[in-house]
Formats: sequence, structure tokens, C-alpha cells
Amino acid sequence: MQLSDPTLLRSSAYVNGDWHPAGASFPVLNPFNGELLAEVADATAADTEAAVTAASAAFPEWSARTAAERSKILRRWNDLILENLEDLAQLLTAEQGKPINEAQGEVRYGASFIEWFAEEGKRAYGDVIPGHGRDKRITVVKQPVGVVAAITPWNFPIAMITRKVAPALAVGCTVVVKPAEDTPLSALALAELASRAGFPPGVFNVLPTSNPKAVGAVLTGDERVKKLSFTGSTAVGKQLMADCAGTVKKVSLELGGNAPFIVFDDADLAAAVEGAMASKYRNAGQTCVCANRIFVQNGIYEDFIAAFTRATQALTVGDGSQEATEIGPLINEAALEKVQRLLVEAERNGAEILTGGGPVEGQELLFQPTVVGGASTDMQMSKEEIFGPVAAVYRFETEAEAVELANATPFGLAAYFYGRDYARCWRVAERLEYGMVGINTGMISTAVAPFGGVKESGFGREGSKYGLEDYLMTKYLCWGGVE
Ligand code: ADP
Repeated sequence: MQLSDPTLLRSSAYVNGDWHPAGASFPVLNPFNGELLAEVADATAADTEAAVTAASAAFPEWSARTAAERSKILRRWNDLILENLEDLAQLLTAEQGKPINEAQGEVRYGASFIEWFAEEGKRAYGDVIPGHGRDKRITVVKQPVGVVAAITPWNFPIAMITRKVAPALAVGCTVVVKPAEDTPLSALALAELASRAGFPPGVFNVLPTSNPKAVGAVLTGDERVKKLSFTGSTAVGKQLMADCAGTVKKVSLELGGNAPFIVFDDADLAAAVEGAMASKYRNAGQTCVCANRIFVQNGIYEDFIAAFTRATQALTVGDGSQEATEIGPLINEAALEKVQRLLVEAERNGAEILTGGGPVEGQELLFQPTVVGGASTDMQMSKEEIFGPVAAVYRFETEAEAVELANATPFGLAAYFYGRDYARCWRVAERLEYGMVGINTGMISTAVAPFGGVKESGFGREGSKYGLEDYLMTKYLCWGGVE
């Protein structure tokens, strides 16, 4: 890693506008080669309390500013992130493993939330409602909720932070971020740039830790924290939601998915293969909107699987820092064990491995892109997020069957389908129990649309005008005696 600005590599917690040296530290490793990238400060419960205190103290002044004043600082932050795109992408690839092109894409995508909400924050409009009495006037105002805690995952170390933090800051909230333990360096680089952009001390705080439970307990239990926004696993999300009950915090959760990707007989085959490749293999299959179950109708099944397998075999696997790489390593050993467990179980249940099937020799976190044909709903990989470059392809006969299969999961984040029959497209889109549906596209993420799920995939929306709501409270002012 050769950063042109080495000061972007930070290893302390960022609290109250200062870099806090902590007692203990924990290692951050490059998942491709195990290289030690940094020893990072290990934030404790006491550090978390200090960050919440700083965020609380900063809230009155920050929220009193006009949206335009806050917007200026957000815009500067956006610009600084884009100016440092190469360095941020290098850091991201080093700690997360994704191909450098995808890392650059993520930096742009991450910045786009800041740019979007710097503008959208100016439009946190209220309402005027005709009164219910002659002397009554009713107005509705939107106010920032207060201190926000954001707990984020390792798969998008920059974008998962900015899409929570940008709307929060734009409307006047202050924020404490706890990034994932595998990828704190990107979060700290964001803090460095936030400090250069001119956010006042305490407005934005970042707490790296190897002990998420201890930090999480303060963030969910402290009554000064008014809102928790979490992206991560369903199990942890459920626990955090329960932990927030004690202080009845506003909560938004973006949890696991089990995305169906349906290809109907009348689909454009080449487009469907391209969409499936994009949806399945981005970030080595480690996104919550990755196609987890690819359902292909009988009439197109053989052609689809042949073309999809060919395209999969053409993927270049390797070191994310190399331009040519399309599939980088899995994040850690636990991820590898999960993918292997699911594959072994699928084979036992009659799955056919058409290409791939295991790690690259001598590089065990590098998993070969794998196509599993003849998958069935008995297999565990139809129920769990695979979170690796393993594509399971199922065969179906009728539209009704496809919709039923797609909905037969407790999750409801993203779904995709390919087809050309206009009426069917509309019908299927309506019947899919998902928060997001890609119709003839495998790429749905953008700052201008509401990202989020239903069922056990969570609630709350990130991005778009809807993304502001999660950080606002609605207050109604009833004016009497207006004679
Ligand atoms: P993943 O399977 O993607 O690692 P997790 O839900 O374990 O998903 O992690 C997502 C985020 O939640 C990370 O920042 C992680 O540190 C954090 N986390 C995990 N367990 C807890 C907990 N008990 N309290 C607070 N945060 C937690």
C-alpha cells in the first residue's frame, strides 16, 4: 500500500475532534496475504461514553445551524473524499480485499450519499394542516432526532457509513460510528477527511473496537443516544433492537437478505447472464443484495446455465490491488468455513458443481467462483446467505411457482427478475415480498433510491428523500386562540 497521503492511515479513535490514543490495540490484516496493516486503538465502554458525551454536547449548536451551513461542510467532505479517491480505494482494498476497481466504485458511491444529502437536507419540509377549530392552526415541523449511533459492517466499509451519517448530519444530528472490526481503517480515513472538512468537534465520532458487545451496550443503552442505525447480520440486529427497547430508541435495521434472481423463458438471455454476474459476484459475493438463489425457467435453463458457467469460468481471481482482478479474497476464515459448509451440504443433497468448488490452492481465502446446478430448496444454501462467490441455480416451471419460491424465506431485501412480458413484469414485481426489486437489471444501488428491506431483512430506508425520515422526528404544533 503506497498512499500518496500517508496521514489518511489513522489508528486512533476519533472522539470530540481529537485522535484518542487508547490503551489496548488490535490488528487489522489484509485478507489477501495476512499482512499486518495497522494496530488500531481498541475502544472501550468508557471511550464510547466519552464519544456520546461529545456528540450530545455538540448537538445544540450543530442542529441550530441552517441546512445550508451544514451542507457546505458536507460538500467539502464529499470533495475531499473524491480528491483522495485513489488512497481511499487502496486502503479499502487492503483491509477488505475487494478488487481495486470496485473499491474506487465504492468510494464514489459512498461520496454520492454525502453529495445527495448535502442538498436533500435543505428539504426537510414540514406541513401546514387546516385546523380543526376556528381558532386553531396546525403546523408540523421536522426536527433532528439527536445523537445517532451507527454500527456498520465490513463489506462496504465506506458506503455503509456515509449513507447513514450523511442524512443524519445533514438534518442536524450528531453521530457516533462503530465500524466493523475487520475494516476500521476506511472509517478512520473518513474521520480524518471529516476533520479537514470542518465539522465541529463531537459532531462525528468513530470508535474502532474488537469488542463490539461492550461498545454496542453503551450505544444501545445510553438514553442520550436517540437513534440506532445498524447494517449487519439478522441475529445481531435482533439483539440490538431488543437492547434498544430499554430506552425506546428509534431504530433502523438493514439485515441479511436471500435474494431471488428469476429468469423467465422470454428473458433476453445475454442481459440476464450479465445481470446475474453483476449481482452474484460483486465483492466476491459478499453483499446483502447478491443473488442468493437463481431461479431459471425450464425453457431457458440449459442455455442460461451454459452461458452463466462460461462467464463464471472467465472471472479473474486474485489480489484485489491488481487491476485485472475481478474476485478478491473472502473476508476471513469464518466466511470461508461457511461457504465450504454450504457447498458440502449441497453436494450431499445432490447438487452438481459445474465449475469451481473450493479455494484456490495455497490461498485459502481466495474462493473459486462456483456454479451449483440442480440446486433444490432442501439445501441449506437456499435458506442462508452464501456470502461468497457461489451461485446456486434452481429450475422452475410456472410464474406462480417462481413467485412462491422467491417469497418462501423470512428475508425480504432485494429481488431481481428478467422477462419481457409487460403484464407479467408488473404482476411479479407487485407479488414479490421485497423492499427492492430489480426488473431486467442486476444493479439497483444508488443514492437517489430508497434502499431497505421488509420482513426479517429489517426496516428503515437509506438514500433518497426517504432516507432523511429515519433521522427526523415529526412534531405537531397546535396553535389555539387565533381569533
Ligand atoms: P457480519 O456477519 O456481517 O460480520 P455482524 O452483524 O456480526 O455481521 O457485524 C456487523 C456489525 O455489527 C459489525 O460492526 C460488528 O462489529 C457489529 N456487532 C456484532 N455484534 C455486536 C454486538 N453484540 N453489539 C454491537 N455490535 C455488534
